[in-house]
Amino acid sequence: MSALYFHIPFCKRICSYCDFPKCADLRLMPATIEAMHREMDNTRDFLHDTTVGTIYFGGGTPSLLPPCELQRFIDHAADIYDLSQVEEITAEVNPDDIDRKYVSALRTTDIGRISVGIQSFDDDALKLMNRRHTAKQAEEAVKSLQDAGYGNITVDIIFGIEGFGDDCLRRNLEHVLALGIQHVSAYHLTIEPSTRFGRMAARGDIHAVDEERSEREFRIIHDTLTDSGFEHYEVSNYALGGYRSRHNSSYWLGTEYLGIGAGAHSFNGNSRRWCEQSADKYVRGCEYVSERLDERDRRNETVMTSLRRIEGIDLADFAEKFGAEYAERLAEEAVKLKGYGVECDGNSIRIPPERMLVSDAVIESLFDV
Ligand code: SF4
Repeated sequence: MSALYFHIPFCKRICSYCDFPKCADLRLMPATIEAMHREMDNTRDFLHDTTVGTIYFGGGTPSLLPPCELQRFIDHAADIYDLSQVEEITAEVNPDDIDRKYVSALRTTDIGRISVGIQSFDDDALKLMNRRHTAKQAEEAVKSLQDAGYGNITVDIIFGIEGFGDDCLRRNLEHVLALGIQHVSAYHLTIEPSTRFGRMAARGDIHAVDEERSEREFRIIHDTLTDSGFEHYEVSNYALGGYRSRHNSSYWLGTEYLGIGAGAHSFNGNSRRWCEQSADKYVRGCEYVSERLDERDRRNETVMTSLRRIEGIDLADFAEKFGAEYAERLAEEAVKLKGYGVECDGNSIRIPPERMLVSDAVIESLFDV
């Protein structure tokens, strides 16, 4: 089954760390929505598998759209694709868009899973990140969603922020656990040059935290959440039993996906393409950048996506796709990486979740074997 992604690029305020495709000119919203519907019509031949398993509204800020507009995308998708087997429809929301009126409108849609962008429960950290909500608003948003009957909620948090140490992280995690939610994504802060943090770093006003601290914080998150019953199933993701993100899992499993909107990526097994345009150009027509994936690209992609998951690389599956010789070479190389905690038992290659922060180094070593 394929996955559908809708990128709603609008943001009322730009967060200090953000290098996602986004647009702060909300006047472009109506024209962008219509351009996205046109793109859906024009791109209906991209996916080979037209049965859709998951739908995801990301951003930007999907909750800047009225819920009826989100539902209109789902209804339009149902005209083009087979949605009879959809397992999960998720929308990202910003806490300060969520009030009881919005939530009750959201409940009339087919969206059953909500991703709340919280990032921190420390108001000073939220200010530094230029988030537009407070910790209290984040808690109230989750509560309103739960009161309305949402029982599949995920929250995002960011760690590795200079000036906010272990105690702050532990308090954050206590708040997260107290929410009674089903899924947590925890991302390490990356300071990108094009962001406000990037400019601050160039002036020496903020610094990336050192490796030792990154690993310690990663471990605190791993220990705290797994001790509370969450499964650490992907490098940045934790879920209670039965609540893994099906949409993101489909990316990691290499299934086809179609992204609609400025900045959204698509993949159909043979090629990948994305639309790099800014929102104002996108409304005038979508132009794609595309790349064809040869077998070497697909092998490397499988190594990369599989090692981010606790299941790791299934060697029999890898041999079937790319040949026994490659699978054997991969296993031989993996054995040399025991120092990184890599486990290879002849059936699979995996990185234990508590060591996954170093997965990039391992993945690079296993590229192009
Ligand atoms: S992090 Fe999200 S809300 Fe903040 S600017 Fe980026 S896309 Fe917008």
